[in-house]
Formats: sequence, structure tokens, C-alpha cells
Amino acid sequence: MKSTKPRQHHRRKVMRKKTCRLCENKIFNIDFKDVELLKRFQTEGGKILPRRITGNCFVHQKLLAAAVKRARMLALVY
Ligand SMILES: [Zn+2]
Repeated sequence: MKSTKPRQHHRRKVMRKKTCRLCENKIFNIDFKDVELLKRFQTEGGKILPRRITGNCFVHQKLLAAAVKRARMLALVY
């Protein structure tokens, strides 16, 4: 006998607390010469990883993007 139990959607929102690593480390001025740091937030192709992946906060994502752009001009990163 087929049960017609409605499939329960137990899609509880997993709020994995993704904190901004830069906030955690209290980095508030991202140095564009800090290539190691910048690369951590880039793909291999040199794109800046989106916030939803890195978990960065809005402020740091902005700072990061600016730093990466500056570093790119100086050919420090891709
Ligand atoms: Zn932050």
C-alpha cells in the first residue's frame, strides 16, 4: 500500500556561521602588497571570490576588491 504521506521538507536553514576571516583577524587595512592574503580570496584564474564563498563581510569584500585591483595594476596578482 502506497502511503500518501506528504514528504516533509525538513530543510532547516543551516546557518553555518561564516564569519569574515578578516574581521576575525582584525585586519582593517588590506595591504595590496600582501599578495598571499589577496590570493587566498581569489580563484586560480585570479578572480575575486564572491562573498558567499569566502564569507567576507560587505566592508571587507569592498576593501579586498580595491586591494586586488590595485595589486593587478602593479601586476602583483592576476
Ligand atoms: Zn569583515
